[in-house]
Amino acid sequence: MVRAVVGANWGDEGKGKITDMLAERADIIVRFQGGANAGHTIINDYGKFALHTLPSGVFYSHTTSIIGNGVALDIPVLCKEIQSVVDRGVPAPKILVSDRAQMVMSYHKNFDAYEEERLGGKSFGSTKSGIAPFYSDKYAKVGFQVSELFDDELLREKVVRITAQKNVLLEHLYHKPAIDPDELYNELQEYKRMIEPYVCDTSLYLYNALKEGKEILLEGQLGTLKDPDHGIYPMVTSSSTLAAYGAIGAGIPPYEIKKVITVCKAYSSAVGAGAFVSEIFGEEADELRRRGGDGGEFGATTGRPRRMGWFDCVASKYGCRMQGATDVAFTVLDVLGYLDEIPVCVGYEINGEVTTDFPVTHLLEKAKPVYKKLAGWKCDIRGIKTYEELPENCRKYIEFVEEQIGYPITMVSNGPGRDDIIYRG
Ligand code: GDP
Repeated sequence: MVRAVVGANWGDEGKGKITDMLAERADIIVRFQGGANAGHTIINDYGKFALHTLPSGVFYSHTTSIIGNGVALDIPVLCKEIQSVVDRGVPAPKILVSDRAQMVMSYHKNFDAYEEERLGGKSFGSTKSGIAPFYSDKYAKVGFQVSELFDDELLREKVVRITAQKNVLLEHLYHKPAIDPDELYNELQEYKRMIEPYVCDTSLYLYNALKEGKEILLEGQLGTLKDPDHGIYPMVTSSSTLAAYGAIGAGIPPYEIKKVITVCKAYSSAVGAGAFVSEIFGEEADELRRRGGDGGEFGATTGRPRRMGWFDCVASKYGCRMQGATDVAFTVLDVLGYLDEIPVCVGYEINGEVTTDFPVTHLLEKAKPVYKKLAGWKCDIRGIKTYEELPENCRKYIEFVEEQIGYPITMVSNGPGRDDIIYRG
């Protein structure tokens, strides 16, 4: 069976923790999109880890971790990450990399930084990991696929062709140093040396695994609202964040995805620019940011302070719908225990009318939040193991959100650890 773990919001919902937890009973964990731009934070018996490229299942010795064809593969980052987990006592993970994955090149990172510089104040808030230039090249059909590393003649010809094209932009648009084709060829040779042990036809591997009845987890990065089609375009990421794309980015049939576990955080946070209707500011935001996540809401990749907001039912309902949620994992609920009352955004007022349907970006920018205040529970809920033991106001908060979003909350996460989970229903 295939299950997908994906985000309902802007990312950072705690997907890493949920994947790590579910990986205990999985055979294979697949990353199917995104790159090293976002990160998962995972806390387990080995310590605390910030993973950017490795799937969250690498901590179990019984699992195989796959970097699917849909991923923006940053080979030096991947190898560094493998080394960093091994250095901290984690048994060497079994990793397979799709021969159809494409590679993030050092020039993609440069182009990312140059473009942010060119845009100045109008920038998208990129993490400068090369993701947007990478996916642009992939779809412009000028990317480098892992398989191509193993055809030297093809590679030499392509390096010359791509360098010529990139150098026009570097010289005339960005006024930056040109790429030397020999250096690029050498970079690719280095990548080949590093990645060779892991490369295979991962879709065939998954096909056989499915026939054998293996348990497969697809691990998404970011969340619905960062999807290039269904998110807050153009303040989105460059690959689809939806479970549906899991089929493509892993190379499996869509009908194999039986469960879509959609991770939804009990309050909101976002990184980068873009409309964020239930955003809060000042001391109120600082306090939530300080208490949020595990040790504060700061980017796992960049360390940037995240933008904070109250739970947004409009965005989350839409987020779950576009994922096709079969289960909602409601996370980081423990963090809200300090509040006397908790505002929840239940509607958007746009041009004088209130809606509960998530709009397109230019209307979203006009939306004002309509809040309902729920009573807080004023205690620490960490350590609680059953739903019935949760304080009444906490259950009311969960049930209110569940009714508003219209999808079943079957898991409640009340702490960052693997065991901090309450199953429901
Ligand atoms: P991801 O990218 O969706 O995996 O999310 P991140 O790892 O960026 O952010 C989630 C943060 O919240 C991490 O620091 C987790 O350790 C932490 N976390 C996850 N679930 C919970 C929870 O239920 N309670 C608390 N307090 N922290 C959590």
